[in-house]
Amino acid sequence: MCGEKRLFLLNPRGFCAGVCRAIGKLEDALKAGGTIYVLHELVHNEHVIESFRARGVVFVADVTDVPVGATLVLSAHGVPVSVENACRSRGLTVIDATCPLVKQVHSQLTNFYARGVHVFLIGHPHHTEVVGTLGRVDSGVECLGAVADVATLPPRATPVAYLTQTTLSSDEIDPIVAALKAKFPQIEGTGNVCYATQNRQGAVRALAGACDALIVVGSAKSSNSQRLREVGEHALGRAYLISDERDLTPSMFEGVRSLALTSGASTPESLFQSVRAQCVARGYSDVQVIGTQENFKL
Ligand code: SF4
Repeated sequence: MCGEKRLFLLNPRGFCAGVCRAIGKLEDALKAGGTIYVLHELVHNEHVIESFRARGVVFVADVTDVPVGATLVLSAHGVPVSVENACRSRGLTVIDATCPLVKQVHSQLTNFYARGVHVFLIGHPHHTEVVGTLGRVDSGVECLGAVADVATLPPRATPVAYLTQTTLSSDEIDPIVAALKAKFPQIEGTGNVCYATQNRQGAVRALAGACDALIVVGSAKSSNSQRLREVGEHALGRAYLISDERDLTPSMFEGVRSLALTSGASTPESLFQSVRAQCVARGYSDVQVIGTQENFKL
């Protein structure tokens, strides 16, 4: 085989509106001065976290780690009501960087709760967003992480509904919803996968049959980056998730004539560009930009 190897740069990719908003809130807090505390990782990307840590931001796992009266930024993933109460008890100045699209899920859940509807939240049980959403009500909600969980659910006399984590893929959600509908034919609900997650996955699915492999630049902690890799594996048969260009290995390029690159919703564009440069240096010099950029504001 001869000719240049191809490199597809996918759009949309990288920072979503929720991540931009959260980073903007922390930047504004830093401008105001003093030590700023952040509960959990502001967004799931270690490079973003390290850059803020280097500027003096203190990341904590629990509200009790924050001095009384200090300023605390809540991460983009949202928090349980108990965390808001703990912030009040400690007299903290709270800057809430929860993505408004996560807050929409909170609000749907509290509306179901008020109507006495039992809710199944489809998501990964230990993910920060899921922990936050489950904690918005004191009862009447449970997490379903896999289709096998549905088989163990007891029958219910009360109405039921489902909601989802914002950063899943339809490949994960659809079989669980189908099983729920078979068990509870009257179930209400909507998928809550956000526009950013859907659009990034859509760009990868559109590549099916047109490309040999996909590299996703993103953190292993990032749900939407993990799902992008899975969607890529499904669509192309071969996909890798790397944190930055240092994770590239020769085996990722073996037998690959056309390679696609994308990045998760919490990945800085600078990391993507460093990976792109490495791929070009490895002979992927026929570079094509695919798709269109997003114009979504929160
Ligand atoms: Fe909000 Fe979606 Fe971005 Fe999460 S991935 S911060 S839900 S826009």
